[in-house]
Amino acid sequence: MNYIVVDLEWNQSPYGKEAEIKEIPFEIIEIGAVKLNENKEVISSFSRLIRPQVYNDIHSITKEIIHIEISDLVEEETFEYVIKEFFVWCGEDYRFATWGNMDLIELQRNIDYYGLEGYIDKPIPFYDVQKLFALDYFKDRKPRTLEFAVDKVNILKDEEFHRAYVDAKYTADIFKLLDQNIVDRNYSIDYYHNPKTKAEEIHLHYETYYKFISREFESKELIMANKDINSVICHKCNQRITRKIKWFTTNSKTYYSLGYCKKHGYIKAKIRIKKAVNNNVFAVKVVKIITEEDAQLLALRYLEAKKRKKEKRIRISNK
Ligand SMILES: [Zn+2]
Repeated sequence: MNYIVVDLEWNQSPYGKEAEIKEIPFEIIEIGAVKLNENKEVISSFSRLIRPQVYNDIHSITKEIIHIEISDLVEEETFEYVIKEFFVWCGEDYRFATWGNMDLIELQRNIDYYGLEGYIDKPIPFYDVQKLFALDYFKDRKPRTLEFAVDKVNILKDEEFHRAYVDAKYTADIFKLLDQNIVDRNYSIDYYHNPKTKAEEIHLHYETYYKFISREFESKELIMANKDINSVICHKCNQRITRKIKWFTTNSKTYYSLGYCKKHGYIKAKIRIKKAVNNNVFAVKVVKIITEEDAQLLALRYLEAKKRKKEKRIRISNK
């Protein structure tokens, strides 16, 4: 299997938010990528500019950051053309690696905008090099800039950042240096195309937590009533837990619950309700062992949420 380390540059509405096209707030104007073999040796590279079709001028911030003018792009091919070339270049057996999780999302949003099919149509595993770098070098998950990482590992900064190919190359340089054990154990899943069936649902077992991405439902009530989703087991020993606090919500998009495993202590479960493209919803559930202190904080949040709910009820009945 090869690795495709990819980076995109995009433009946004030059006339402000009001003139933004909702379906494509970020129009891709450059794709840069490096292909690595299994031993993470560079075997090929890809670099193309793209003629914009949505926004006919470059946003001033974009100009400043990436130093591209609209006149640099007018002679280039369109997104439809370049993306076809790109996926042919990617080949058959590969996984994407990117700095952060934004590039794959915007790539798919642009593909969707033009109604192109046959490229990415389901959840895909990928390597978030920004996350992996944080785990490997700092044992945390804090997002840091690509330049910070390049400095940290002492890579020669011979080319300016913020052009797609250069950023892809730097990302590949960092990716190569990462502990392979950490890389293998902490791959990510892009779920821009969320699971559609039970068989497509995603179960990710990481060292410190378990993540689950459900199929679609018509409402969040149906999600929260579903036994597969609302039940929680300890992700370390797969044993049933004692429920300490039942599911509660602070903003009706995120639900929490607290349980206790005899062997592993307090277990926090969190469900985020996400909107699918067609107005259906799906759940992202994370189950994690937490400290007693964090369990107490969660209990406080539960009490606050309960109080707010009660106040709201009183307000309504007083109307
Ligand atoms: Zn346990």
